[in-house]
Amino acid sequence: MSVLDVLSVASEAYPLIKTGGLADVVGALPSALAEEGIRVRTLIPGYPTVLAAMDDATETPLPPAVSAQTGLAGRVLAAEIRGLDTLVLDIPELFARNGNPYAGPDGQDWPDNAMRFAALARTAAEIGMDGVAGWTPAIVHAHDWQAGLAPAYLHYRGATRPRTVMTVHNLAFAGKVPLDLREAIALPPEALGVEGVEFYGAISLLKAGLQFADRITTVSPTYATEILTPEGGMGLDGLLRRRAGVLSGILNGIDMQAWDPSSDMMLAARYGPAIMQVRASNKADLQRRMGLDIRPDALLFGVVSRLTWQKGLDMLLEALPTLIAAGAQLAVLGAGDEDIEAGFLAAMAANPGQVGCIVGYHEQLAHAIQAGSDALLVPSRFEPCGLTQLYALRYGSVPVVARVGGLSDTVIDANPMALGAGVATGLQFTPVTAERLAAAISRAADLYADRPTWARMQACGMASDVSWRGPARQYARLYRGLMTAP
Ligand code: ADP
Repeated sequence: MSVLDVLSVASEAYPLIKTGGLADVVGALPSALAEEGIRVRTLIPGYPTVLAAMDDATETPLPPAVSAQTGLAGRVLAAEIRGLDTLVLDIPELFARNGNPYAGPDGQDWPDNAMRFAALARTAAEIGMDGVAGWTPAIVHAHDWQAGLAPAYLHYRGATRPRTVMTVHNLAFAGKVPLDLREAIALPPEALGVEGVEFYGAISLLKAGLQFADRITTVSPTYATEILTPEGGMGLDGLLRRRAGVLSGILNGIDMQAWDPSSDMMLAARYGPAIMQVRASNKADLQRRMGLDIRPDALLFGVVSRLTWQKGLDMLLEALPTLIAAGAQLAVLGAGDEDIEAGFLAAMAANPGQVGCIVGYHEQLAHAIQAGSDALLVPSRFEPCGLTQLYALRYGSVPVVARVGGLSDTVIDANPMALGAGVATGLQFTPVTAERLAAAISRAADLYADRPTWARMQACGMASDVSWRGPARQYARLYRGLMTAP
């Protein structure tokens, strides 16, 4: 099997820089693909944390087209950083900033995001055409709107170009930028129009990728069908239906090393399927840290999530009386909309010992919740794949999820047949309403009361294959198929 070279381009990659699931995927997929004979190099922006993690980098000049497009000085650095073969676009004027990749410390989007991510995508396209330090990829794989212009730039370079793949991790983020930036981001006049990159009076960088990539993937089979409908298509369903022949859904896996309860140093105690009794100390540790009563027998629900409308956590606030009445506990870690943050903080004040909430982003506490909770709630209104339910499966926390997107593809609902066959791994509810969520919480409480059944569900979840092995094989097949396609 010949080695195939792929340039992956994204705005985040774990463990260098992460705001969400995108980083987990971009960071973990390359090593899984290596087993399939695919060599991936990953291009990300040179944020301060990324540069700080590099030592021994080799330096190449910016591609001339990128210098011309940005009018800025910079370079491309190549280094292996924490196992990831990384290319870093170092343009200090664009990326050397405190704050997160998209917004400043005040939470406002950086006003020049269009220029920043156009520079990233343009660099990917130029490396695709001319290579970097003697290496030229056969395929450029763009992730989400931040990289969406890469397939468009390559499309306009003509027939002799690398093949392109666009992966949608979340269709809700269209990457809208003003129409009058067309020239500044180096798109030709014919790129405008609804058959091009125009989207409701603006340019959508995501649409650019969807329009021009040779293949489109998204992160679960169910989401791949949902985005073809007006309800799930976020205004792009027409385009996606037209391109349905090149669209497919490939589930995400998880980083099996970073998320392994038997070796996870972020936990109070390590455990595995054969030593589940040890898990109780993680539960007690979590209860202590979240200000909950130390009650081994209370059903402890966990949440690790962005606190946004998408994630449906406003519905959890509505369903809270059911959880409280069942004598259960809730541990929430998240950040996002002020209203939802305030709602959980108020719920904590009103239910001391039963509800705990920490607003913020804490990697270690995220692990502690997976290891210490009995069940993990994911009531998303839509969910392209979702990673937290996959971590929950591996950590023996029973996922209670909305039946949407990747959540419906990864959790086997504890219906009577599944329970009878001993294959249930969690609970699903539909439609996605506060009432049905409350009913699912009650159903979880009933199941938890039957400890042997609960333990069986935990064991089934922990035995589920949530690794990248299967997904990597599918990406490899997609790449190889693309190379032989006419
Ligand atoms: P999304 O990418 O839509 O936010 P995913 O479930 O795909 O949702 O991925 C979320 C990732 O971010 C997971 O790795 C999860 O553990 C992590 N995460 C979310 N919120 C927090 C938080 N407040 N603290 C730590 N990790 C978080």
